[in-house]
Amino acid sequence: MTASSPTITVVGAGLAGSEAALAAARLGVRVRLFEMRPVKMTPAHRTGNFAELVCSTSLGGEGEMQAKGLLQAELRSVGGAIVTAADASRVPAGNALAVDRDEFSARVTGAVREHPLIEVVPGEVGAVPEGIAVIATGPLTSDALAADLMRLTGSERLSFYDAAAPVIAYESINLDVAWRAGRYGQSADYLNCPFTKEEYLRFFAALEQARAHTPHDWEGLEFFEGCMPIEEIARRGVDTPRFGPMSPKGLDDPRTGRWPYAVAQLRQEDREGRMWSLVGFQTGLKWGDQKAVVQLIPGLENAEIVRYGVMHRNTYLNAPEVLDSTLQLRADRQKFVAGVLAGTEGYLESAATGWLAGTNAARLALGLAPLTPPAESMLGGLTRYLASANPQGFQPMNVNWALVPELPAPPPGPNGKVRKLGKREKRPPMFRRGLAAFMAWAGEEAGLPVTPPAVPQPEEDALPALR
Ligand SMILES: Cc1cc2nc3c(=O)[nH]c(=O)nc-3n(C[C@H](O)[C@H](O)[C@H](O)COP(=O)(O)OP(=O)(O)OC[C@H]3O[C@@H](n4cnc5c(N)ncnc54)[C@H](O)[C@@H]3O)c2cc1C
Repeated sequence: MTASSPTITVVGAGLAGSEAALAAARLGVRVRLFEMRPVKMTPAHRTGNFAELVCSTSLGGEGEMQAKGLLQAELRSVGGAIVTAADASRVPAGNALAVDRDEFSARVTGAVREHPLIEVVPGEVGAVPEGIAVIATGPLTSDALAADLMRLTGSERLSFYDAAAPVIAYESINLDVAWRAGRYGQSADYLNCPFTKEEYLRFFAALEQARAHTPHDWEGLEFFEGCMPIEEIARRGVDTPRFGPMSPKGLDDPRTGRWPYAVAQLRQEDREGRMWSLVGFQTGLKWGDQKAVVQLIPGLENAEIVRYGVMHRNTYLNAPEVLDSTLQLRADRQKFVAGVLAGTEGYLESAATGWLAGTNAARLALGLAPLTPPAESMLGGLTRYLASANPQGFQPMNVNWALVPELPAPPPGPNGKVRKLGKREKRPPMFRRGLAAFMAWAGEEAGLPVTPPAVPQPEEDALPALR
């Protein structure tokens, strides 16, 4: 390595930025890594360590049944720094990859500080840097940098609040009950779940009983009318939801020819129509209660929630309007964005997008084209989603199986009917297909050293991965 090796800048030494810096340095590129802690702290971090885990210590469920398990395996295959540190600081946690918080961030901090090609620069960055850069300043990006990002991307494309509604897997919606229509015969873009009065009152009672997540003091929850959580709307009276987001007006139920008592509407989230979000159902309910309430909606009795609703302080870009699947900003292709700021949710997703942004920024610095992983891989599915999701009301996304293509349908049975594959039948082959595609891409297209990872085999299905 010579002093004339190209240099890139990484801003933020959190989960995404630490991974990005190490991925770029591994390709022989010099990195100037800026981190404002401990000079300036965020409201959630407690230390000056890199990759500090601000809340839970879990990087998600493991094994072939888990979407996070596939992403972990992909990152292991290319020696991802975060997953390597997590494996080395693992604590027993059933079927999840959980870590000793202090040991984990000490390992990441050590790896970054000891790397000869990484120079750590303490202090806050107040503007988008010149030249090739990865911006990975996370959900609590400081105000000055956020303002400069808005200058670059447009002010309406940066959000400071996450008011997300649950997102449901299409295949789990009962289409004998939910029907496609728009209000007053307008374009049939919505799936509509009709309530009788009895069903609505049962749903409302459960909503009233459900427990909300208690916000941290610093979150200072102040709701705008337009993104009021459904449980707050319900607090205003039994009829308030059905005169608001659950209004049945203009929706003739084809089975009765009449407007139902109330309606829950779902809107398509991704291009393929495999994920649908509940319109006006942003919520801060605890996940168990949230699932129980959602499954009381007619047509969603067996709903698989691929992304739970959340209400919290968050800084993130409207990815489909500003980012390519290579994680480059369309407004300035020398700038890459990773982590929560890029519209992902979760520690592991932040690390994974950090790895891709760092790899692609280094490639650009070396005169090579930035790349997108294959659609069958979880990382490829995630970054393609970021670049192509519905920009209207875009909310950060965590990995889930609806991000990658389904398996081909099995041949019809003797009765001529095509049998629907169960989760246990289809997820392990989807896992193996995704990992094989990722490793082939990383080795052949990206030219990286690739090692087949050991895949943990949990005895039973893990619980849904923590955030
Ligand atoms: C309160 C809270 C709880 C959360 N709990 C969980 C959880 O339990 N599980 C989970 O998976 N996810 C959780 N998240 C989401 C979580 O933040 C991300 O999963 C992950 O930390 C994001 O990684 P990141 O690299 O994008 O951001 P971070 O890890 O936050 O890293 C961003 C870094 O940038 C630095 N920075 C910010 N602005 C500047 C600047 N201008 N100049 C220089 N440095 C700057 C910050 O100090 C920070 O070190 C939580 C988020 C919050 C806010």
